[in-house]
Amino acid sequence: WTTDTTPVDKLDELSKTSYPLCMRILHESLKTHHHLKNSGRMQYGLFIKGIGVTMTDALSFWKTEFTKKIDSAKFDKEYAYSIRHTYGKEGKQTNYTPLGCPKIISSSVSAGEYHGCAFKHMDQNSLRQKLFNYGVPAAILYISAINEIADLAREQNYLGACTAYFKFIHKRMPDKLISHPNVYFAESRVILA
Ligand code: SF4
Repeated sequence: WTTDTTPVDKLDELSKTSYPLCMRILHESLKTHHHLKNSGRMQYGLFIKGIGVTMTDALSFWKTEFTKKIDSAKFDKEYAYSIRHTYGKEGKQTNYTPLGCPKIISSSVSAGEYHGCAFKHMDQNSLRQKLFNYGVPAAILYISAINEIADLAREQNYLGACTAYFKFIHKRMPDKLISHPNVYFAESRVILA
C-alpha cells in the first residue's frame, strides 16, 4: 500500500486531516472507549497497516489504548495475537490487505460497534451531526455541504458521498472517485503532505 512508515503519534492528527469518515470514527471511538470490538479492530487495524504503521507500533498503539481499561497481561493474552495475525505473523501467515469500500459497506454493524461505512450505516440525523462536528460547513455560498453529502448517502450513493466529503475537507476533488479508504488517505496526503 505504501512504502512510507507512519508513526503512531501522528494518527490523532492524521485522523482529522486525512482519514475517510469511517476510519475517523473508528479512531475516535477507540480513543473514547479504549476498546473496539473485533470487526472494528479488523477494519481499522488493516487500514493503519496499509498507511504504513509497523506491527511493533501497531501493538504498542492498541495496547496503550486498551490498557486504559484492562491490564497488560489480559491484552497480551486476548488481543496481541490477532494484531500479529493481521500482519501475517501468526496462523497461516496470510498477508492481509486493507478492506475496500464494497466490503466495508456490506458489513453488518450491531449496537455498540463502530465499523462499517458511516454513509451506509449511520442514520441521517447522526450522519449530519457527525459531519457538523467534524467541521463540514453547513453552508458555503448558499450550498449546504452537509446537505449535499447526506443527500448522496440517502440515495445510497455512498462512494459519491465519500468523494463529496473529501471535496469539502480538502477544498478540492480527489483525482478519482473514492472506492477504498486507503486510496482516500493516499489522495489526501498528496494534497496535504
Ligand atoms: Fe469509508 Fe469507503 Fe465509506 Fe468512504 S465510502 S466512509 S472510505 S467505507
